[in-house]
Amino acid sequence: MALACAADFAVTLTDEAQLDDFMASGTEATADDLSLFVLSGGSNVLLPASLNAVVLQPNMRGIHVTAQTEHYVDIEVMAGENWHDLVVYTVNQGWYGLENLALIPGLTGAAPVQNIGAYGVQLEDRLQYVRAYHLPSKTWHNLSTTDCDFGYRDSIFKRAPNTWLISRVGFRLHTDPTNILASYGDVQTVAQRYAEQQDRKQPTPVDVMQAIIEIRQQKLPDPKQLPNCGSFFQNPIIDQSQFIALQATYPAIVGYPMPDAMVKVAAGWLIEQAGLKGGGITPIFTHKQQALVLTNHAPYQATQADVATAQHYIADVVYEKFAIQLSREPVWVNADGSIGHAEHVV
Ligand SMILES: Cc1cc2nc3c(=O)[nH]c(=O)nc-3n(C[C@H](O)[C@H](O)[C@H](O)COP(=O)(O)OP(=O)(O)OC[C@H]3O[C@@H](n4cnc5c(N)ncnc54)[C@H](O)[C@@H]3O)c2cc1C
Repeated sequence: MALACAADFAVTLTDEAQLDDFMASGTEATADDLSLFVLSGGSNVLLPASLNAVVLQPNMRGIHVTAQTEHYVDIEVMAGENWHDLVVYTVNQGWYGLENLALIPGLTGAAPVQNIGAYGVQLEDRLQYVRAYHLPSKTWHNLSTTDCDFGYRDSIFKRAPNTWLISRVGFRLHTDPTNILASYGDVQTVAQRYAEQQDRKQPTPVDVMQAIIEIRQQKLPDPKQLPNCGSFFQNPIIDQSQFIALQATYPAIVGYPMPDAMVKVAAGWLIEQAGLKGGGITPIFTHKQQALVLTNHAPYQATQADVATAQHYIADVVYEKFAIQLSREPVWVNADGSIGHAEHVV
């Protein structure tokens, strides 16, 4: 989101032993009992103007093949590897399975935290294990997919923030170029076009990856050009009875059935209908093509407080119109490095 933020201490970790040393050393920072905050690529966090914490930045690099057969390749990836570059590298090697997750910003170590997902694939579908340091007990652990207890955009790492530092992620990828998942949205059509340009009858994972890159570039603003943190609001889940009542007034309302007579409503549609596509409070505005995305028009000058002001304005207007409460999706970081709740009000 390119918010103004200065931290008291930052430690960039280029290997795992450095973390053991740092935790054992009792430095000025740890002696002051400052809390620890793990920061990766910074694409899904809303940072305070002044961060009174020790920032730990996992920046270990490396991609290693740990096993290989005719049908699959196991790789171990260090936390500091850029996620999108990893996707492109593996697909170009003929190691498939990550192509649907192309162009998601951030680093590999952060990917398990919210079990990143897109176009029908979630990280847990390809993950084998995570190596992570448990900060309170100062011990290393290898965690299986089951141990990570993944949910939709959720995991043990997200539920207990600043408790684990992920240093490596193990994946099992496949080598079958006919095994693709292209059933979401326009992926099949666009992938088919890429395949035909290469005289292929059927799209391969390379075509799927290119299709997803093209679709995402059209849909979402590039954070490097116009700072944003992807979807800013969660899609709210409401009672079916409330949804039916709203449908009577707004027949075009977009909702997806959920278990227990609940309905998930498209937050972007609500914001747009409330007249806030492109709206907000200077310098934070919803994106003109995608109302779900908040954008920062004053990079490194706007603060977390500006984001909160715009968020509450948008949420209030939506609530007045639909009686639906919107919650924030990105991670809200408090001044002491602790993590606020999605509903946290400043
Ligand atoms: C334009 C845009 C599009 C996006 N699209 C998607 C999408 O399609 N699907 C999706 O799932 N997400 C999406 N996101 C969200 C974001 O890309 C992911 O959450 C990503 O994994 C964040 O990575 P990061 O390295 O920037 O993490 P950060 O923002 O630095 O950190 C995120 C959280 O993870 C914790 N964390 C980070 N690294 C570690 C580590 N090594 N160990 C322990 N904890 C750690 C941090 O403390 C923080 O709480 C999008 C974001 C943007 C800006």
